[in-house]
Amino acid sequence: MNTMQHPATSQQDLSLDEFWMPFTANRQFKAKPRLLESAEGMFYTDVEGRQVLDATAGLWCCNAGHGRKEISEAVARQIAKLDFAPTFQMGHPLPFQLAERLVEIAPKGLNRVFFTNSGSESVDTALKIALAYQRARGEGTRTRLIGRELGYHGVGFGGISVGGMVNNRKAFGVQLPGVDHLPHTLDLERNAFTRGLPKQGAELADQLEKLVALHGAENIAAVIVEPMSGSAGVILPPQGYLKRLREITAKHGILLIFDEVITGYGRLGEPFAAQRWEVTPDIITTAKGLTNGAIPMGAVFVSEQIQDAFMHGPQGLIELFHGYTYSGHPVAAAAALATLDIYQRDGLLTRARELEVYWQEALHSLQGLAHVIDIRNTGLVGAVHLASREGAPGARGYEVFEACYWDGVMVRVTGDIIAMSPPLIVEKPHIDRIVEVLGNVIRRTA
Ligand code: PMP
Repeated sequence: MNTMQHPATSQQDLSLDEFWMPFTANRQFKAKPRLLESAEGMFYTDVEGRQVLDATAGLWCCNAGHGRKEISEAVARQIAKLDFAPTFQMGHPLPFQLAERLVEIAPKGLNRVFFTNSGSESVDTALKIALAYQRARGEGTRTRLIGRELGYHGVGFGGISVGGMVNNRKAFGVQLPGVDHLPHTLDLERNAFTRGLPKQGAELADQLEKLVALHGAENIAAVIVEPMSGSAGVILPPQGYLKRLREITAKHGILLIFDEVITGYGRLGEPFAAQRWEVTPDIITTAKGLTNGAIPMGAVFVSEQIQDAFMHGPQGLIELFHGYTYSGHPVAAAAALATLDIYQRDGLLTRARELEVYWQEALHSLQGLAHVIDIRNTGLVGAVHLASREGAPGARGYEVFEACYWDGVMVRVTGDIIAMSPPLIVEKPHIDRIVEVLGNVIRRTA
């Protein structure tokens, strides 16, 4: 047992050995842990009583901020009333109600919803539906999947196969066969310090035509992209890029999947990125903000036309042999309904639009600080891209991330990129504080 070494905490007896933390430098963390104990509004309080301003909405998920009573009360009521009910050959009203509500805010035409428990499961579900759909409509040779370099689609085998973050793939060897990757759209030479969407790079979508020429459209099932890559460090789609992808996929009968696990539920000032950038894919994956992070849940939106292929195709009685014990879980669905009530009542699904320019100008005020090589923003997302230290990629980013935390602001770090996505309830003084602390830390650590 290795007890916490960090100065006086209320939990000095806590053993840190047994929990193998995900996506964490476990050894480093345990030397100086950051343990959050409670949360309210825009702030976490850690076990030492430190107030930490949440500049990341938890992990891009607490869009309505923390401690929302409507959600915790809905969860408590629901767990007491109906703790669990199967949705295999049985049902209960909540996921039906929730699906109807979700379709109201979804892009037109995406009016069927499949429930999961996480972003990774949503991605797996979307890829499997895409493959099964192609077979159901008599195009069974379409088995290839196309993702993108630096894409993040969760950690299932499907997700890491179509994903393009090297560290998430290379330790595991085996992946899905028949996967190609489009080039990523990060271009510091042409686009550094652009406010909003980069002007250069729409032509990168044309690489899809090359893959079609190489493999034949009749062999390609789907293309999956994050409309905006979050986890890789806020990589934005160049103007016109997504439209081009849509045109090429439609022309060749290839499904287009938008992974909106981060961009869904208001992050960009519309319910979905698809609406913000006026490109409607065939499938959208979501999770995170669906329940404001309070209870695990994901939702996959598909078009009626896709579902129809299963309803009228050659399948047996059960149209799709896929689902999770907790698909449409009553407690998660109750949390999601309460979350949607808040989002809609408080106008949070479009609030990012109102604050976008303020957020943008605040972030871009950091241009010119030592080692800052790019600043990117859209909606209420942003990133400050730092130059890597020679021979130590990621070291500067991690140092900045840690120092921000001890100075009371929680940001995300990916390599040497500091990413931010505050809860959509953020006010201007919070934005000022985030940028002030980050700026001070960058100066100090330079
Ligand atoms: N897709 C995207 C775009 C994501 O950002 C994430 C999580 N950051 C996932 C999938 C995976 O979600 P989860 O961690 O809930 O499995």
